[in-house]
Amino acid sequence: MNSIKALKFPKDLKGCGWYEILPEPNPPQELVSDIKADWIIIGTGFAGLSAAQRLTQLRPNDRVAVLDAQPVGWGAAGRNSGFMIDIPHELQSNDYAGGLEKDLEHIRVNRTAVKFATDLVEEYGLQEHFSLSGKIHGAVDQVGMESLHAFEHHLDNLGEAYTSLSAADMKRVTGTDYYTGGMHAHSGAQIQPAGYIRGLAKGLTSKVDIFENSPVLEIKQGATKEAVTPHGKVSAPKVIMAVNGKLDSFGFFKRRLMHVYTFASMTRQLSENEQALLGGDPAWGLVSAHPMGTSIRKTAESRIVVRSVFTYNPTGETSAAQITRLGRVQKRAFQARFPMLDQVTMEHRWGGHLCLSLNSAPAFGEIEPGIYAACCQQGLGVMQGTLSGKLIAELAIGQDNEDLRTYQSFGEPKKLYPEPFMTLGAKTHLWWSHLRAGKNL
Ligand SMILES: Cc1cc2nc3c(=O)[nH]c(=O)nc-3n(C[C@H](O)[C@H](O)[C@H](O)COP(=O)(O)OP(=O)(O)OC[C@H]3O[C@@H](n4cnc5c(N)ncnc54)[C@H](O)[C@@H]3O)c2cc1C
Repeated sequence: MNSIKALKFPKDLKGCGWYEILPEPNPPQELVSDIKADWIIIGTGFAGLSAAQRLTQLRPNDRVAVLDAQPVGWGAAGRNSGFMIDIPHELQSNDYAGGLEKDLEHIRVNRTAVKFATDLVEEYGLQEHFSLSGKIHGAVDQVGMESLHAFEHHLDNLGEAYTSLSAADMKRVTGTDYYTGGMHAHSGAQIQPAGYIRGLAKGLTSKVDIFENSPVLEIKQGATKEAVTPHGKVSAPKVIMAVNGKLDSFGFFKRRLMHVYTFASMTRQLSENEQALLGGDPAWGLVSAHPMGTSIRKTAESRIVVRSVFTYNPTGETSAAQITRLGRVQKRAFQARFPMLDQVTMEHRWGGHLCLSLNSAPAFGEIEPGIYAACCQQGLGVMQGTLSGKLIAELAIGQDNEDLRTYQSFGEPKKLYPEPFMTLGAKTHLWWSHLRAGKNL
């Protein structure tokens, strides 16, 4: 049997507010024996659990084993900003717009994923963690307003609905007069990411086996595959890799995946007095009009979550020192936007992994006989992970449909530039883009 060994493992650090504010989960169930299944899924993020959900729909009698190196919700799936974005959101642009034809195709397939997520929210009773509220784009100064207008123009061409917001409208919604303009994009959802992903895993446990703290060290190939973990193994004819950027640590798509990190801080709960001082809507979610700017969520429990800064970390890891340093950037962004909340402290601070490719293409499809990948989500895994997880299950059971063909037409990740040019180029590009974002950061 040939063997593929994993060379690196996820090491997300403690501190994610979305996870910490939820009740303590049940103790993790580890894989401690050798079992047989029809399917092995590696990864319990959006892609892995959506693939599991789709398999339970398409093959209700099959045995599905899902393995994760960490507890459910501990990885990026539980630590993101929770925007499930169905309209264009090209991070490697100045205004989120991609090509017109390609964006129309993205929107169409994205909406099948929103429907899929809406249905599973209904099935598992996850409404408190999911709302079809769209999102606000907030612009500051001329740079932000230019990006905003360019994107509105793109939405006009795509025939997408939105509502333009004046500076006064922005203050009415958010309570701050920091924004010079904005718009409300009507479609898409906002989720409590850790609540959604843990709720989905809990709902699935009656139909599939989920093993946490069970890193896959090795995949043995053959007609039957074996996923080997420290204390057991699962044998099955088919494997779905839903590990996002960790795919290259198994030797797949080597030197084609870019490992980027982004960072967030969450305040303590605002007091009633502070809520009154702030004003605005009880809950809202805002992405910056400039792709390198700061996103903000105000949660229904009156906490404010600030996400900012992208860093290129080719090792696929961050550190406590980097999280602390960039936490100061979030604190400054918070103070600039909410001077009336100068007594409010940050209670949680964290960072997490994004996987991007140079040409924004996913790592998707059958990558070895019987081994499938739904990875490299371009920092948009809430939507794209859901979509690629659903589609990879369809592909792996032999379906052929229009959504699958469309997704496959997005191509595969291009080769990265040789080192040291790649790292130097990526770091310089990010430095310059953050500088250009100005007050939107
Ligand atoms: C701060 C922050 C904000 C973000 N905001 C947004 C947002 O608003 N909207 C959006 O769409 N995206 C956002 N993202 C990105 C989004 O979180 C990711 O794109 C998404 O989580 C990817 O989903 P996934 O299922 O493909 O992978 P992941 O969620 O990364 O799941 C992969 C899983 O694989 C497991 N794994 C890896 N290697 C192994 C192994 N060897 N054995 C077993 N298990 C393994 C990991 O532990 C992990 O749980 C954000 C990310 C961060 C960090």
